[in-house]
Amino acid sequence: MSLNYSMRKSALAVFIFLSAVSFVFAMPAGWSIRQSRHFIVYYRNANKDFVEKLIVRSESYYQSIPKSLGLKLKQQWLNQKRCKVYIYDTAKQYQDQTGQPDWSDGSSIQKLRLIFSFMAAKNFLDSVLPHELAHIIFREAVGFQNKTIPVWLEEGVGASQEQLDFYKVKELLKDDLAKGKLIDISRLQEIDLRSLRNKAEIDLFYAQAASVVGYLLSGFKSDRFQIFCRNLRNGLSLGKALNKTYGFKSILELDQAWQSYLAQS
Ligand SMILES: [Zn+2]
Repeated sequence: MSLNYSMRKSALAVFIFLSAVSFVFAMPAGWSIRQSRHFIVYYRNANKDFVEKLIVRSESYYQSIPKSLGLKLKQQWLNQKRCKVYIYDTAKQYQDQTGQPDWSDGSSIQKLRLIFSFMAAKNFLDSVLPHELAHIIFREAVGFQNKTIPVWLEEGVGASQEQLDFYKVKELLKDDLAKGKLIDISRLQEIDLRSLRNKAEIDLFYAQAASVVGYLLSGFKSDRFQIFCRNLRNGLSLGKALNKTYGFKSILELDQAWQSYLAQS
């Protein structure tokens, strides 16, 4: 399956990049700042129009993403708790400073509400920005140290908030379903993105993860995802949280229900 979307984001987003953190606390000279109620943007040579759009879109996503996920922010992002967005001039500077692989368009350190990207990042405002903001908002709901969250759920939440043509994604997934090409749920559950080297496999992984999360969001009552996140936060395993919140007896049952939903939609 080949998607013409840049759905590939940070595989390492949950790790703290020490080089990036030391950079943040020792901000070099020559960076400009643009602040709003919930965001601070740091940039060097980025176009002012782009920075203004970035601020407007960030504030808009701050309102729309929690609504879309059915989550209530535990705490407003005000003053010192604002989200900081760092826009490097080039992909190379971004990769050197954050240690990200060359396919990464953006990354975040969720606990500190930091987002890193670069000027020419593909679909930054529509894709990278909502994806990374969704990571932060989701982690605030399930707990930053929570180790029970599989990569597909984490990335599925991020990808589900990208401004993509989800009709097209759905049609491609249905085609893969009919051809038996979808990633088996037991493999999806264990996937480590760093092990995926093939673009088609990475795109399929993101599309499938986003679609399963989309099913959990839209196939049930709007308060379910918040309850699911609370159950995960309270220490339930993924299987137990799925059972308690959605009634699935196993992850396999979720997979089957999602496939039926996909086939019928
Ligand atoms: Zn991501």
